[in-house]
Amino acid sequence: MAVAVHPGPALAERTTLRLGGPALAEVALSRVDEAPDLAGVLAGLGGAPVVLGRGSNVLAADGPLPLVLVRPAAEPAPRVVRWLPAEVVVRAEAGAGLPRLLGFARAGGFSGLEGLAGIPGSVGGAVAMNAGSYGCETGSVLSRVLVHSERFGMDWRTRDQVEAGYRHFAPYPGHDPGLWLVLAAEFLLRRDEPRAVGRRMRETFAKKAATQPLTAHTAGCVFKNPAGQSAGRLLDGCGFKGKRVGGMGFSPLHANFMENLGDGTAAQALELIAQATAAVRERHGLDLELEVKLWP
Ligand SMILES: Cc1cc2nc3c(=O)[nH]c(=O)nc-3n(C[C@H](O)[C@H](O)[C@H](O)COP(=O)(O)OP(=O)(O)OC[C@H]3O[C@@H](n4cnc5c(N)ncnc54)[C@H](O)[C@@H]3O)c2cc1C
Repeated sequence: MAVAVHPGPALAERTTLRLGGPALAEVALSRVDEAPDLAGVLAGLGGAPVVLGRGSNVLAADGPLPLVLVRPAAEPAPRVVRWLPAEVVVRAEAGAGLPRLLGFARAGGFSGLEGLAGIPGSVGGAVAMNAGSYGCETGSVLSRVLVHSERFGMDWRTRDQVEAGYRHFAPYPGHDPGLWLVLAAEFLLRRDEPRAVGRRMRETFAKKAATQPLTAHTAGCVFKNPAGQSAGRLLDGCGFKGKRVGGMGFSPLHANFMENLGDGTAAQALELIAQATAAVRERHGLDLELEVKLWP
């Protein structure tokens, strides 16, 4: 099957914040072995290519965007590729939903991903962001990752060849691979009782649901936590919990989550971000760093 190209995809329909105008085009891979065709397809489209998973960490600008969205394949479904005495290696394609991978791990009794419950991203997005919570990070159970890049082509990278830090991932540390995308990932998970894995996932989810607006239109945490501090607490202390500009507001439940209340715009989101950054700098002398990705 050839790489599929769709014109004018609306970012507001492809991001959990429900913000953003139309991009130039969307290029969707249905299989990982189509990745080498990307360069030719992208060259014919112009614009800046960006990789989009589930759009759960993206704040896209209002109005037309000079971007081409690259969507990795989601099939085949997560599966065990290696059985070891006490562990398994599970492989998932980058476009697959993280919740789907967690469902597979729960059903099979494969432990290691429980702390990622409640994160609505794709497998590729979780690797690329090194998504995590409560001390559990995607990179800590990663065994190897299939990457396609402009400079190095298609390449399996083992965990010790890549760099994974706090919401940071580099497939070629110290090198610029050009446009790169995660195509698939393999995770080394411990064999356990399905019921025990499921219980831990439910515990994680319940803990988050009590303190985070999981069902609102958000992009997760807006800012990274400064070393030894909580961005949410700093923002709360500066009066940003529940603070609104037009149709955008910091959540009344968690000051580091920004919600689109229905008719919000990216301009309003950026105004809130500017106000929050200035307030924390003035009161605490700290420059908050964005966790959410601003597009373009
Ligand atoms: C309700 C809610 C709760 C959240 N909770 C958490 C949490 O607890 N912990 C946490 O870490 N995050 C959390 N997030 C943020 C977000 O879900 C994660 O960062 C997630 O991993 C992003 O995945 P995605 O597929 O949506 O990526 P996108 O938002 O589509 O993209 C994010 C970035 O990753 C890049 N990217 C995506 N896919 C690929 C790929 N295949 N190859 C290369 N680059 C890629 C994009 O180019 C972009 O730079 C939350 C978000 C929401 C809405």
